[in-house]
Amino acid sequence: MNFYRYFWIFLLLINYTLFSQSIDSNFTLVIDPGHGGKDPGNTGNGYLEKKIALNIGLKIGERLKKYRNISVIYTRKTDVFVDLHKRAKIANDVQADLFISIHCDAHTSNAYGAGTFVLGLHANERNFKIAQKENSVIFLEDDYQQKYEGFDPNNPESVISLVLMQEDYLDKSIVAANFIQKSFVNRLKRRDRTVKQAGFLVLRNTFMPSVLVETGFLTNKNEGSYLNSNKGQNEMADAISEAIINYFDALDNPPKSFENLTQIDKYEFKIQISASKRLLPLKSYNFNGLTNLSVRKVGSIYKYFFGLTTNYNEAKKLLKKSKSSGYKSSFIVLEKNGKPYDLDKYLNEI
Ligand SMILES: [Zn+2]
Repeated sequence: MNFYRYFWIFLLLINYTLFSQSIDSNFTLVIDPGHGGKDPGNTGNGYLEKKIALNIGLKIGERLKKYRNISVIYTRKTDVFVDLHKRAKIANDVQADLFISIHCDAHTSNAYGAGTFVLGLHANERNFKIAQKENSVIFLEDDYQQKYEGFDPNNPESVISLVLMQEDYLDKSIVAANFIQKSFVNRLKRRDRTVKQAGFLVLRNTFMPSVLVETGFLTNKNEGSYLNSNKGQNEMADAISEAIINYFDALDNPPKSFENLTQIDKYEFKIQISASKRLLPLKSYNFNGLTNLSVRKVGSIYKYFFGLTTNYNEAKKLLKKSKSSGYKSSFIVLEKNGKPYDLDKYLNEI
């Protein structure tokens, strides 16, 4: 009998340590519900991004209230317009440990799924478009030209000039983003739009680990109504707060696998120009004048590639070039983290 009693106490203790993570240090979290006031954000299917982002933000704060080591600060708690500089300043002034900006996405297609972003250069057009949309709010601000030093959200070059002032915080931002993204996918079974880098202005001026979540697409009928519902907003808040707790807990007690969490999937495109049983020196005279060549041995066959880029549109240009150089049946191949990856699957995902 005693054995069972002790066994139950043992189980309870395990439960306790598993579910009431010991956050020893004090953490300050800044929750930034996107848009507000005169800026509704996107209005896909008639839903209001500013309202959904605010509801989810407030619900996250409510859930974290019970952790006495976490103090929560908001950039807005009501339907007001706050400019992007001000949002970053609020977080900098309290020297927050984490800044999380909450948004909903929109697209002309039926796209759906949840994604998490950290500041960086966007590897593809789509990420640029998302950042462009979220950044365009500065046109509603007074004196935006002075405040953002000639920054033009519509110009990719301008975005490249985003110095990675956040570089020091990038690793931790990616860890936080990975926790959030995992929570969306594992807990809520949302479609995984993965952790990505893009040039979000609101993340540029915060001097702390910072992430931006696109909780889903209001333009998608199902996802829009889910995000607009109380149920959807509660579940999103559950998932995000759980991830934040896990992140703070990991800062206190870095897990062995911490390194895995600082990775972002890397996608690279190349053009396969030919395949042969012979190993040819990678000289341009062997390949109709093309340079930037590489080779991979698959079984007994050598596959020859031209070019290397992280940008799909760039890859299409490379393909044109290889075709015009005589490689009529060349095609684009994709590698994810250095391993071949199905291009159609990738295109479907984005
Ligand atoms: Zn937004």
